Amino acid sequence: MLVQKYTLSPGTSYSTPYYIAKSVRPGPTVMIVAGIHGKETGSIQAARKLVGMIRKDQLRIHKGSLIIVPTVNKKAYRQRIRGVPDLNRTFPRSAGQAAKHALSAALFDVAKRYHPSWYLDLHEANGLSQRNANVLGQTLITNPGSRAVPVARKIIKEINRTIGASSHYFNLRRHELPGSSRTAAARILGARAVTVETGWSLPFSTRVQYQIDIVRRFLSEAGLTKG
Ligand SMILES: [Zn+2]
Repeated sequence: MLVQKYTLSPGTSYSTPYYIAKSVRPGPTVMIVAGIHGKETGSIQAARKLVGMIRKDQLRIHKGSLIIVPTVNKKAYRQRIRGVPDLNRTFPRSAGQAAKHALSAALFDVAKRYHPSWYLDLHEANGLSQRNANVLGQTLITNPGSRAVPVARKIIKEINRTIGASSHYFNLRRHELPGSSRTAAARILGARAVTVETGWSLPFSTRVQYQIDIVRRFLSEAGLTKG
């Protein structure tokens, strides 16, 4: 399938590609972003692989549109750091408010333009949520009261069935995080917004696989792919 390449923040030091795959059949728009934090390499690799899978027809978009921004903060990614400032505190906190950083402003402009019904923000975190309720590794996070909750719960149930070690199970967390891209997408755009957090302590390839698997399940639930 043809994937169109665009540039976010063109002509600036933050310039980074994003991709749009659009089916001829109308349907919902899903937006996937990774690399808001530059050191979360498993999620960045998963987003890049997803672009390749669509190009090779290993992942078929049956209807609607898919937008992927694989490495939002390239500067931070080059240094394998979270990023300074933390981009995920600079997104608008209300409809009237501007983003506090040029890059989050550019990303949020794309989100506003396409108005996705689903917004997935791919991250990685410390710890394993099944062992410790205070860590975010192996979680899906939504805002409290999000319409994404039933689907997130269903996907957690399904993916946990495929995981051998129960310590690696995913859990749902509900959290309002003003300034984050998830909360901005949910609050301001009304998107079903979910943050995916794989656990650092797991092998790289396992984390990438979990990320891809979870995204594929959301794409199916959103109706973009069949089965
Ligand atoms: Zn992160």
